[in-house]
Amino acid sequence: VFAHVVRAPEDPILGVTVAYNKDPSPIKLNLGVGAYRTEEGKPLVLNVVRKAEQILVNDSSRVKEYLPIVGLADFNKLSAKLIFGADSPAIQENRVTTVQCLSGTGSLRVGAEFLAKHYHQRTIYIPQPTWGNHPKIFAIGGLSVKTYSYYDPTTRGLNFQGLLDDLSSASSGAIVLLHACAHNPTGVDPTLEQWEQIRKLMRSRGLLPFFDSAYQGFASGSLDADAQSVRMFVADGGECLVAQSYAKNMGLYGERVGALSIVCKNADVASRVESQLKLVIRPMFSNPPIHGPSIVATILKDSNMYNEWTIELKAMADRIISMRHKLFEALRARGTPGDWSHIVKQIGMFTFTGLNSEQVVFMTKEYHIYMTSDGRISMAGLSTKTVPHLADAIHAAVTR
Ligand code: PMP
Repeated sequence: VFAHVVRAPEDPILGVTVAYNKDPSPIKLNLGVGAYRTEEGKPLVLNVVRKAEQILVNDSSRVKEYLPIVGLADFNKLSAKLIFGADSPAIQENRVTTVQCLSGTGSLRVGAEFLAKHYHQRTIYIPQPTWGNHPKIFAIGGLSVKTYSYYDPTTRGLNFQGLLDDLSSASSGAIVLLHACAHNPTGVDPTLEQWEQIRKLMRSRGLLPFFDSAYQGFASGSLDADAQSVRMFVADGGECLVAQSYAKNMGLYGERVGALSIVCKNADVASRVESQLKLVIRPMFSNPPIHGPSIVATILKDSNMYNEWTIELKAMADRIISMRHKLFEALRARGTPGDWSHIVKQIGMFTFTGLNSEQVVFMTKEYHIYMTSDGRISMAGLSTKTVPHLADAIHAAVTR
């Protein structure tokens, strides 16, 4: 009965790793998926995460019962505090509802389904380009996906005028997806002044912000600085949604820990919204996993562990920034034609190199370097040892 099923293509991002794994070359380099690696090219479990896990294991009172539909209460409270700020008036006024979801992806998906059911507008505008999973998550969640201008390939920076023009002509009341910081794949974020203009325009047109916060702490190394865009929108008293992921900033990728927060007008609305979120979650995954959010809650509620986390997080962010400088210098040393300053200007995990798909194919074939075909490279996958190899490959690709 399944003989007619056609083979689906590999996921454009995760498929890069599939191809990488098949390559027997000893010099192969995977810069596709956005997962942090150490200088030795190894995955990293943070010390503070190991410590929290030890505390959990040693606590014999802990059981493996189901969590409530909305997840671990402590985790939800602490997650809201982390993104909105400890003194956020929205939290104090109880007008935020936060539900634990399956990492960032699951949080976006639950948000999409809630909006499709309860919001008066089904259109969501996403930046062009954006993380490849966004259009799929929102479409399958029942929203109709359109795009707004974001990136200018000539400056390798923000197309701010295009963005403003597109949001000015977006259908009134539409939902707008915003990357809270460290835009993926471009590494290009609006400045605070530009955020303020975006906020004013969106509020004046009644556009509903849906923030995707997958890199808090990774862009600048500061959790507060990376939450400023979100906090600006919350400070004006208006509504918004935020999907949070702990995959990158706590290195909890496979634990699937995240949260969806919806900021409402008042506490009564927030509690009704939460009751409806339960109806979205229950038939989707019933209730979320317990181990990951317990790690997060253990760290966030203990000031010493929280501090340890911020130090380890900053070290990851700093290593990525130093890779940017090393790659930029290596290209300069080779006299590689072109302006490569965007490598040090862009922020977060990725550099949007500007290499085209043909050049990417060449680099994979001749240099065993794996990346997405849009020329995005994960700086977190680079090390001092591998920078020269990448620089050689880029040089060869652009001078060929
Ligand atoms: N949003 C963006 C922009 C991302 O880059 C990612 C991870 N690549 C996610 C959301 C979600 O990741 P996860 O589901 O692993 O938290």
